[in-house]
Amino acid sequence: MPALFRETQNAKLGTGNWKLETEQPSFTIGVIALQGAFREHCRALESAGACAREVRRRRELEGLAGLVIPGGESTTIGKLMVSYRLLESVRALAGAGMPVFGTCAGLVMLASGVVEGDQPLLNLMDIEVRRNAFGRQVKSFEADLDVPLLGEEPFHGIFIRAPWIERAGQDVEVLARYDAHPVAARQGGMLVTAFHPELTGDLRLHRLFLEMAVSARREGPPAAALRSLGN
Ligand code: GLN
Repeated sequence: MPALFRETQNAKLGTGNWKLETEQPSFTIGVIALQGAFREHCRALESAGACAREVRRRRELEGLAGLVIPGGESTTIGKLMVSYRLLESVRALAGAGMPVFGTCAGLVMLASGVVEGDQPLLNLMDIEVRRNAFGRQVKSFEADLDVPLLGEEPFHGIFIRAPWIERAGQDVEVLARYDAHPVAARQGGMLVTAFHPELTGDLRLHRLFLEMAVSARREGPPAAALRSLGN
């Protein structure tokens, strides 16, 4: 376990809980809260030791150390991000170094393209995705995934009308596959999963994201981009 985290005792569950160790008391991760499973992400982030903030307006992006885009319906999240004027701001902040974690519909939002159709995307990762890739008959399923970056213990993946990554550019690090298809990946400060880690109680991916956010912070907050946000 990285030094950023220290173990504390969770008396209720009787299990070890890892807390983020950072001198910055206001280490806050935003969660886009327009539609979908945002509350579960807030809970997971707080259990992992960060403060979570629901984001609906541009000014709520201010001061964030990272941002989560949850699962839901990517066409709806995309349209709402356009009408709330969040799409450009998030793209600018991510371009200036703010890490972003996208799960399921959030993975679609981070992509540079979808195989079929046209919808607003952030275009922050060099990936092309196939939505609802596992077909109508297998809309939802669960599978234990091998994610070497997280250690030997498999990660329980909950897939709900999930996409997969159809094409990944050479700068993209594939972290997990299901049936040979990439379902988790990372590129710079961007992290995506086709499944829903916020629904499992396994905090390893949220911790990984917090580590990414801590190292991005060390390299300096994207102050210039924040100033240019306005309201
Ligand atoms: N099928 C949805 C989409 O393509 C994603 C589903 C989910 O986020 N659980 O946007």
